[in-house]
Amino acid sequence: GIEIRGLRKAFGQVTAIDHLDLDIHPGEFLALLGPSGSGKSTVLMALAGFEPPTGGTIRIDGEDCTHVPPHRRNIGMVFQHYTLFPHMSVLDNVAFPLRMRGVAKEERRARAAAALETVRLGAFGDRLPKQLSGGQQQRVAIARAIVYNPRVLLMDEPLSALDKNLREEMQIEIKRLQESLGITVVFVTHDQGEALTMADRVAILQSGRLQQISPARELYERPANLFAAGFIGEMN
Ligand code: ATP
Ligand code: MG
Repeated sequence: GIEIRGLRKAFGQVTAIDHLDLDIHPGEFLALLGPSGSGKSTVLMALAGFEPPTGGTIRIDGEDCTHVPPHRRNIGMVFQHYTLFPHMSVLDNVAFPLRMRGVAKEERRARAAAALETVRLGAFGDRLPKQLSGGQQQRVAIARAIVYNPRVLLMDEPLSALDKNLREEMQIEIKRLQESLGITVVFVTHDQGEALTMADRVAILQSGRLQQISPARELYERPANLFAAGFIGEMN
């Protein structure tokens, strides 16, 4: 599991994360909700190791990794816009993190092919990203994020660029994948329905502070405070 204690992140005068305490259970699917600028992406970047915190600690499976570089954290990350390398084949895109980790070529290809199978794109390895649909490209991004068997998968609005049908299909696929891999997922979304259908628990951030964390259902029944009540009401 993930244990965040007193996490702070300031960008100059702006406090993006303000003394955040958060426990994420092993194998849990946590959705992170909150208005624009509330610090959701910054939390993911801090968890992934791309933004060194101003204060506080992050422990993963009991290990303090607050100052561990991203490639040593064993965390996968999928961004809103599937940032695939346009000049590389789909297979090479998926194999890329293994290359970064010094895995030999044969093994890289085998593991990348297996990851592509997992997202049901086994037949697409030789294509270039631009020869795939948006949903397929996002699945390649997911394959790339899981190719080194991370213990945690962070997703920052991974479906927001997709149309409604594709989004619903991908919600089911991501759930299926999460359950079959038994992986911990932290999933940022603006879509409350998406959070409620996918997540075990939902956390609401505002101004870098945690307003509420509870099982999806309780968000409606027992909002923790006025902000949470208003925010949930507003999104309906
Ligand atoms: P959105 O829903 O719009 O993606 P968010 O909840 O992901 O918003 P963050 O991107 O985490 O919000 O930003 C939190 C705050 O930190 C904002 O005030 C933002 O302007 C600021 N911020 C984020 N990244 C940086 C940066 N690299 N430099 C300066 N300020 C930043
Ligand atoms: Mg964001």
